[in-house]
Amino acid sequence: MTAPIGLLGGTFDPIHIAHLRTAIQAREQLGLSEVRLMPNHIPPHRATPDSAPEHRLAMTRLAAAATPGLTVDQRELNRITPSYTVDTLIELRAELGPSRPLCFIMGMDSLCSLDKWHRWQELLDYAHLVVSHRPGWTPELNPTLAALYNNHGTQDREALHLVSGGHIFLLDNPELEVSSTQIRDYIRRGNNPQYLLPDAVANYIRQQGLYSGSMV
Ligand code: ATP
Repeated sequence: MTAPIGLLGGTFDPIHIAHLRTAIQAREQLGLSEVRLMPNHIPPHRATPDSAPEHRLAMTRLAAAATPGLTVDQRELNRITPSYTVDTLIELRAELGPSRPLCFIMGMDSLCSLDKWHRWQELLDYAHLVVSHRPGWTPELNPTLAALYNNHGTQDREALHLVSGGHIFLLDNPELEVSSTQIRDYIRRGNNPQYLLPDAVANYIRQQGLYSGSMV
């Protein structure tokens, strides 16, 4: 069986070191052939300031170009309407065929609210879920999600290579207290976000005047 593919979806507004460390840790711990970074549509209820999809895509491309093993999947931005993860996984499963393992990667905060996602019970039909630890989020799942984890959780890396989906795996990753919200906030206040995100992304933000409204 061929090595699993990883997929890390996010708003990436902007992409930062915790996203990238998560992708690298997942690739190395699980022996993934690549991790695709997939910028998604911003849901209508999200507060401003949010940068346009082309900026989020450009920043994601800059980050991927600087990191071996990472690529960009822009399928969700190509659609006019916001897309649900389950639809994206169904589309990918059709492309990859029934047996190629696929790992959908997310932070612990996302796992803790997974039962709010559209058709969340079907996600494991199409992919494994790989979860990174995040400061402030303990794996104390509500009873519904605890039952899901009891049925699907494994820490056996090889198990994720043997079937195309269906397992939940918790990464062993350093917890990084970083968020896109915090970075936008720093920039808005005129503070330096250096070392929270790749230099190429910080330069892009400066050149385009993102989050602060002023171009340099
Ligand atoms: P925002 O602050 O704008 O809400 P964010 O920093 O949470 O953004 P997203 O683009 O929403 O970033 O996150 C994409 C994915 O990365 C999600 O699955 C999220 O859980 C995960 N993630 C984001 N930050 C971290 C972090 N510090 N540690 C682990 N996972 C993270």
